[in-house]
Amino acid sequence: MSAPNQTRVAIVGGGLVGSLLACYLGRRGYRVDVYERRHDPRSHAAEQGRSINLALSERGLDALRRIDLVDSVMAPALPMHGRMMHDQAGRLTFQSYSASGERAINSIGRGALNETLLDAAEATPGVTLHFDVRTTAYGLGTNSLALARGDELEVVEPDIVLGSDGYASAVRQSLADAGRITVTQEPEDHSYKELTIPALNGEFAMDPDALHIWPRGSSMMIALPNPDRSFTCTLFWPRADLEALTTPESITAHFAEVYPDALPLMPTLVEDYLANPNGLLSTLHVDPWQADGKVALIGDAAHAILPFFGQGANSGFEDVVELDRCLDETEDDWRLALPLYQQRRRPNAEAIAWLAQDNFIEMRDKVASPAFRAAKKVEHALERLLPGRYLSRYEMVSFTTIPYAEVIERDRRQRSTLLATAAGVGALAVGTAVGVLSRVGRRGT
Ligand SMILES: Cc1cc2nc3c(=O)[nH]c(=O)nc-3n(C[C@H](O)[C@H](O)[C@H](O)COP(=O)(O)OP(=O)(O)OC[C@H]3O[C@@H](n4cnc5c(N)ncnc54)[C@H](O)[C@@H]3O)c2cc1C
Repeated sequence: MSAPNQTRVAIVGGGLVGSLLACYLGRRGYRVDVYERRHDPRSHAAEQGRSINLALSERGLDALRRIDLVDSVMAPALPMHGRMMHDQAGRLTFQSYSASGERAINSIGRGALNETLLDAAEATPGVTLHFDVRTTAYGLGTNSLALARGDELEVVEPDIVLGSDGYASAVRQSLADAGRITVTQEPEDHSYKELTIPALNGEFAMDPDALHIWPRGSSMMIALPNPDRSFTCTLFWPRADLEALTTPESITAHFAEVYPDALPLMPTLVEDYLANPNGLLSTLHVDPWQADGKVALIGDAAHAILPFFGQGANSGFEDVVELDRCLDETEDDWRLALPLYQQRRRPNAEAIAWLAQDNFIEMRDKVASPAFRAAKKVEHALERLLPGRYLSRYEMVSFTTIPYAEVIERDRRQRSTLLATAAGVGALAVGTAVGVLSRVGRRGT
């Protein structure tokens, strides 16, 4: 393979992962073209009703820190130090995310994050951004991309193709059509819909230092704060339930019964509910992620997951760091780097897919139970007693870069050691609490 400045890399998709990837590869000296099918978001309004904020945590921050982007990205972010649970009587319970109470995940506008990353990519020598260019197919034999720019069609033949074109990836589809990869989709019978709680008299209508959850058994609503003092609310409901409410009366009546404290804060509920789309959720398993050391998938294109651990973008950013590391270790030999990247990242993507599915049950159901809250207190006490040695699953996923597959293993080991210890000393109270802990999130174990 020729030197980076002689190597042309095409990135398909200039979303969160594609724009960060362009920054990393540009800094390595590659000639990078990013083909994005949408308009330049920096000069066009965002699509209404599509996840306008997300939670960024340590893995994403680590990727940004490495290329000095963390300060610009984090400037408009709002820290959330814990969960605020809203029960059906409107009572609130706060649960800190970390034992110290100091650690926070960060609510950040998806559009603002993408725009900052696009600015950074554009400012990186060697990177060229192309908007309104849709990739219609990838050709394996020629390593080519068929591009559509309005009615104009063009074929380019870069040296390397990286598909960061998200959940409905065209690059992935072409590889699947060529029989080079298998794609398994695990559909989720819950969909999501976004709503809003606007600022109240110019102030936040609820505590902005928390991720708000209305856990309701098989469904839930969450809300994250925005810099304009509004909250974006997301309903995660069984699809049939979302579709069942079709009139202003039925929507208002349902919210009055199930989310009574939120209803008075949502003056545009009915309009938003009827206007905003129902988003689909599913988990994608792709194998392998690359072909012939010339083309690879990254981010959601390789591993779309459920959003319940707030790790989709965070894990996509980690993919970028790992690919960069693999290029370092192989001295930019893509034929070695791409298989290595896939070998290291795929098990971790499978692990976070499982953790995200499991966390949905915790968020919508378990967080409401007194036993769960007691167990969380014990868990935080253990973290304080055994600093660095006992780390809760949440702590490991959100506040460290311990590989996700290792998080699952370490979590299992911790729980079984604690159970054995509690049994050994006959500490009934501790045993009960740890027993609750060990049942929390052990689906499938
Ligand atoms: C409701 C919800 C909440 C979420 N919350 C969080 C959270 O709190 N924390 C978190 O880390 N993650 C969260 N996520 C996940 C996160 O949004 C995704 O993991 C992340 O956006 C993936 O980034 P990406 O760049 O891989 O894909 P995308 O963001 O989907 O970007 C893909 C890009 O490719 C472009 N594209 C697609 N097809 C083509 C084509 N054929 N040609 C050219 N361009 C193309 C698209 O226009 C887009 O710009 C959430 C997701 C949802 C649905």
